[in-house]
Amino acid sequence: MPGPARILVVEDEARIAEVVQSYLEGQGHTVDRAATGEEALAAAASRRPDLVVLDLGLPGMSGEEVCRRLRAESDVPIIMLTAKDAEEDLVNGLQLGADDYMTKPFSPRELTARVRALLRRARPDEVPQADVLERAGGRLVVDSARRRVTLDGELVELTESEFRLLQALARFPGRVYTRSELVERLQGMEFEPYERTIDAHIKNLRHKLGDDARAPRLVLTVYGRGYAFAEDQR
Ligand code: CA
Repeated sequence: MPGPARILVVEDEARIAEVVQSYLEGQGHTVDRAATGEEALAAAASRRPDLVVLDLGLPGMSGEEVCRRLRAESDVPIIMLTAKDAEEDLVNGLQLGADDYMTKPFSPRELTARVRALLRRARPDEVPQADVLERAGGRLVVDSARRRVTLDGELVELTESEFRLLQALARFPGRVYTRSELVERLQGMEFEPYERTIDAHIKNLRHKLGDDARAPRLVLTVYGRGYAFAEDQR
């Protein structure tokens, strides 16, 4: 588990900012707050945060612009907060280089889980081999460099599609991927990936991983949203 980090919360709604701050501080992190894009850029420059939680709906400079400028300066992990159903915002934000997003209203607990996952990825010294993911308490090993997956030490033969989906899902346990996000992971290799093909690949993947489709323990269905890899129980 990653250690305490310095986190910049950019949100003009004080009530939301306070809740986020108190949850993150509850996890031992140090939190700086900014209510405008200008404040955010100044704070990012002076405080050098390890991660930024960025609301897209800001007065004055837009969250997209803040995201673009932060990205021009650094690789700091960015989690965007978007208004409900603002699909376009979302697509823009992800294209601008945000690492993850949450749609309002969101659960502060889920936000802290995603912060944890992103910090884990962003601090390579705490992830011994970034290309080798160990999941399910070490039972499942996804080795991207060798393009190899083992479960309990046994090689699991996966198609390229299945491998790419597993790789995407397992990278950030607990992060929910919509079908269309997963379709993107397959782009460039399938002639025309459809969202329904994702369900078929997931079904095959579960079968090969010995996951029961009715009660999966590894590749979870998040109803109405998509799929997520299970977080390890602590
Ligand atoms: Ca706002």
